[in-house]
Formats: sequence, structure tokens, C-alpha cells
Amino acid sequence: MREKQIRVAVIGATGSVGASALDICAKFPDRFKVTALAAKSNAQKLHELAQKFSPKTLCLTEPQDSNFNLGSYKCIFGKSGLLEIATDPEVDHVVFASSGTAAIKALQEALKADKDVSLANKESIVVAGPWVMPLVRRKDQLRPVDSEHSAIWQCLREDPARDIQEICLTASGGPFRSHTKEQMRAVKAADALKHPVWDMGAKVTIDSSTLMNKGIECIEAAQLFGLPQERVSAVVHPVSQAHGMVLFRDGTLKMLVSPADMRYPCAAALAWPDRLDLISAGMPYFRPQDTNLSFTEIDEERFPCFQIATEAGRRGGAYPALLIGADEAAVDAFLKDEIPYLAIAQVIEEVFAKRQGSAPESLDEAIALVDEGKRAAERACMNWRNHF
Ligand code: NDP
Ligand code: MG
Repeated sequence: MREKQIRVAVIGATGSVGASALDICAKFPDRFKVTALAAKSNAQKLHELAQKFSPKTLCLTEPQDSNFNLGSYKCIFGKSGLLEIATDPEVDHVVFASSGTAAIKALQEALKADKDVSLANKESIVVAGPWVMPLVRRKDQLRPVDSEHSAIWQCLREDPARDIQEICLTASGGPFRSHTKEQMRAVKAADALKHPVWDMGAKVTIDSSTLMNKGIECIEAAQLFGLPQERVSAVVHPVSQAHGMVLFRDGTLKMLVSPADMRYPCAAALAWPDRLDLISAGMPYFRPQDTNLSFTEIDEERFPCFQIATEAGRRGGAYPALLIGADEAAVDAFLKDEIPYLAIAQVIEEVFAKRQGSAPESLDEAIALVDEGKRAAERACMNWRNHF
């Protein structure tokens, strides 16, 4: 047994990535002690998890029932509850696996409090990169969990940033990889929710099918690894065996291969610098002869969301935050069958075209831009419904 267990808090514990992180903690109880769990409103699921992991603290940021009390645990509420967890002296490592922007300030506080951080939440970096990245105090304090970024981070284990020529993310291509534009016109939510490889939450599954997710991830990667947007690219790799790669200036290409399962990047981030014995724990793995490493270019004509997102990254300023808000509202409208699939890109383009005003100067302004993007996209969706 290790000398000291790592005391882990999971924000977004009731979600898909939260489940992966908690599964790793459950498989290695000698190493990890779950001390705090947080979610938005799913009290029942949080209670089930609490019974399994016996944490000290539970937090719901938006409890449905104001008498939220889950027995003998310390129960706290609201975004201030997330701040309390992120700075708790009895927490060593905070996993940020919530969706949306609610945990950005808690992420800042966790970094300031010198916690190790596993970060799955893309919004924190795309919207707030300029206010989060400068708070990273030491190498490997911030450990990416998004699988592509984890892959690149792991490829860069010993290499200095100056040796990076380019980084490249892989995209499975989603369920419509081989669809014509005409076929995409008829796509419904149920079709887009069937991801061929990954099992994820609804919003990120739709974003994967439009390749918006890959575009957002390219912005995330540029921020995380301190590179200009032009040096971050993506390729289609349908089997999702390789997740990310780094081309070094000496012409060497390094890539990381692992099964398409979020428990692998969670394990890498939680246990760093050690590697957990996942093979002995019964998890699948690839031997070289099992791999099929072929890559093709992204077709930006059929997947305009990829280009819209990377362009937003290149323009910087207000655009990344607007993109996050506008995409969220457009995907939501599509899931409710209020706009057609191909309108997701058009709605976001309309929001960008109408945008006036300057770049955010503070984190609060950046977060406000997410809301502005959301509202502008909701209006664009409404127009869509009235005119088509
Ligand atoms: P899910 O929708 O499955 O889960 C979201 C989680 O966040 C739930 O626990 C939810 O709580 C919680 N949450 C939402 N809003 C708040 C809030 N205001 N305060 C506190 N908790 C909140 O999402 P995923 O697990 O799919 O994704 C989580 C994040 O990770 C996203 O940013 C996503 O982009 C990113 N990501 C996801 C991947 C995946 O494989 N799913 C891969 C890589 C990155 P409740 O249940 O109470 O609503
Ligand atoms: Mg990803």
C-alpha cells in the first residue's frame, strides 16, 4: 500500500466523465480516497454515489429540494459549495468533470490552492483560458482529461515546448462520417445521439457528430499547450485508437494509442506520474497487431462547424466564448426538434455575423459572453422556426 492515499474531489460526479473518474478510484481504493462529490441537481444519484464512496462532503449547486440533506454527510450548496470543495485542505486532487461554466472559479481557486487538477471540462479553457492558464503553478498540476489532450500531454511527458512543431488531434468522424450533405439534411436527434465509438453525455455527442467538438478541442489544445491556433490540427481516425499526436521539430511523430474509454485519461491524470495497472484490473488494451492506424483529412464542406470553431479560435477575443454559448443553444434547439441538423452551423454563423463589441477584459465578461451567445442563438433559432 502507498504511504498516503490521494484525497479526491469530483465535481460533476453524476455525469459520464465523473463516472469514469470514480470507477478508477473504486478500482484502486488503496491509492484514492473520494472525499467530496458535487453535481448540479441530481440528488438521488449523488446519494447513491455517497453510499458507495462515503465522502465527507456533498454539494449540489442547484438543488431541487431546498431541504437537500443526504444523511450524515456534510451537505453544501451553490457555486460557493464548489469553491469550498476546491480549497478544502482535506482535498489533494480535484476532478473537474462538470459541464458548462459553473466550475470555472472553483478551478481557479483549486489551482491557487496548489491542488492537483484533472480537467475534463472544455468550457473552462475555451472561455476562460486567459484567466486560468496563468494560475498553473507547476508542471503537470493541470492534467487534461479530454482524451485527445490527455494523449498530447502524455506524448509531451519529457519534451520541452520549444521542440513542438505541431500538435494534431484525432476525430472519430461521428455517425455521419460518410453521409452526403443531402443525407445530413434528414438527420434527427436520435440518429446523432448514436455515437459509433464513445459513450458520452448528449451535448458532447451531438458536437462530436458535427465535428464542433473537434473544433472546440482545437481551441482548447492551443490554450492548454500555449500554441498558436495554426499549429493545432485534427484528422479523421474512425476507430479512435490513436487520440492525439505531436510532431516534433526533428520530424519525429509521437502518438498515443488506448481504448476509447474515458477511464484511461482519467487514470493517467489521477495517478500521474505513476501509471496504474489497468491491465491487471481487467481493462482491455491494444497490442500492436490490434491497431489500425489510418488517418484522413476533415471535409470542412460537409462539417462546417469544425471550420467555424477553429476560425473562432484564430480570431480569439469574444469569439470562443460566443461560440460556446451559441453552440449550446443551437444544439439544445436541435435536440428539441426545433431546428434541423444543418441549421446548427448556420445559427452560429448568424450569431458571429451580428456580433459587435470588444474582447472580454475579465473572466466575468468572458462568462457573460457565453450567455450573450446563447441568447443570440436562441433568437436565431426562433427566426428559423418562424420562417421555415
Ligand atoms: P454529463 O452531462 O454526463 O454530466 C455533467 C455533470 O456536470 C453532471 O454531474 C452534472 O450534474 C454536472 N453539472 C452540470 N452543471 C453543473 C453545475 N452548474 N454545477 C455543478 N455540477 C454541474 O457531461 P459529460 O460527463 O459528458 O461531460 C462533462 C464535461 O467533460 C463537459 O465539459 C464535456 O465537454 C467534457 N468532456 C466529456 C467527455 C465525455 O466522454 N463525456 C469527453 C471529454 C470531455 P447533474 O447530474 O446534477 O446535472
Ligand atoms: Mg475529446
